[in-house]
Amino acid sequence: MPKIANRRRTLVTGGAGFLGSHLCERLLERGDDVLCVDNFYSGTKDNIAHLLANPHFELVRHDITFPLYLEVDEIYNLGCPASPIHYQYDPVQTTKTSVHGSINMLGLAKRVRARILQASTSEVYGDPEVHPQLESYWGNVNPIGTRACYDEAKRCAETLFFDYHRQHKLEIKVARIFNTYGPRMHPNDGRVVSNFIVQALRGEPITVYGSGGQTRSFCYVDDLIEALLRFMQTPAEHTGPLNVGNPKEFTILELAERVINLTGAKSKIVHQPLPSDDPAQRQPDIAAARKLIDWEPLTPLEAGLEKTIEYFRAQGVGAR
Ligand code: NAD
Ligand code: UDP
Ligand code: UDP
Repeated sequence: MPKIANRRRTLVTGGAGFLGSHLCERLLERGDDVLCVDNFYSGTKDNIAHLLANPHFELVRHDITFPLYLEVDEIYNLGCPASPIHYQYDPVQTTKTSVHGSINMLGLAKRVRARILQASTSEVYGDPEVHPQLESYWGNVNPIGTRACYDEAKRCAETLFFDYHRQHKLEIKVARIFNTYGPRMHPNDGRVVSNFIVQALRGEPITVYGSGGQTRSFCYVDDLIEALLRFMQTPAEHTGPLNVGNPKEFTILELAERVINLTGAKSKIVHQPLPSDDPAQRQPDIAAARKLIDWEPLTPLEAGLEKTIEYFRAQGVGAR
């Protein structure tokens, strides 16, 4: 179908999720026609309710494991549950979403010759033996563990992206996203930042799994979205994979203490068993992103946590 409108038509799968809703917002701000595709598996209409009145925003309820025929110029493939509780709830569906979903979105991109970005993950590195993680590291993933439905399916998705690129000359961008947090995280999705803030605001104990000595590097959502937008605009030869995340590393115990301080909570820290295959450490090497997209996360942890705490308070979490 010939393109008549001047606006760029951009498809965001998983657009009603945490990251997807922020991405849709930014794309609308820059003047795109945005098509948000979501089956509301882990996302919610509340995340995009404020966009529904915008004539350049369109919401399609659809499960990407089934074919989808649309005419678009660019695709951001974010559709996939991202928190361990959500992706382990229906692990077969999780694998289908990353594998069948990617095949369908790649088939769509091939038919309309659209550029396509995959929201891959630091989980492709598994429990890493190399620290910090560089894009050239192949990872250490348990293929039969409880996290495999997410990790292995995301690895397979990367394979599919690179094969469509080699075989069908598709323009691809594979972004390996490290732990990202911010407003619109699901309060019950079990991720560490949302869990700790919700527990602190309710005055409940803060549940640290294991000793709390395991590390993560937390990126604020606005910084992450900026990186995805910049990466998508790079010349075609830059396929990635590209690490995007904040290289500042914290132990989970440090995070718990910061959340307690910032919320002024009286919560005590309690230790609970460590989930299986929980990576001991994670920190992105972002030298490639610094060079390619001239990007650096700008939001310090405390400032990002404050905004996230404010969001959960505004949602009524902890209100009496
Ligand atoms: P999220 O769960 O909030 O968003 C995922 C969205 O995808 C939800 O709205 C969900 O309903 C939708 N979805 C799931 N299965 C679908 C399907 N079959 N068809 C259509 N829509 C479907 O999670 P998020 O944190 O916003 O993550 C977005 C993407 O970024 C995911 O692909 C995730 O793997 C990736 N990622 C996120 C992080 C992070 O820290 N937030 C880190 C690494 C990678
Ligand atoms: N597909 C889709 N939308 C499109 C084009 C293709 O959902 O606009 C799906 C199609 O159903 C197929 C998959 O994408 O299952 C892969 O398409 P491709 O053309 O690569 O493979 P083929 O159709 O040859 O199996
Ligand atoms: N975690 C924790 N308490 C919680 C939730 C998570 O100690 O209430 C730990 C979890 O064991 C892991 C880290 O925090 O070591 C990050 O967990 P999350 O589920 O947010 O992300 P991922 O493990 O996928 O990086």
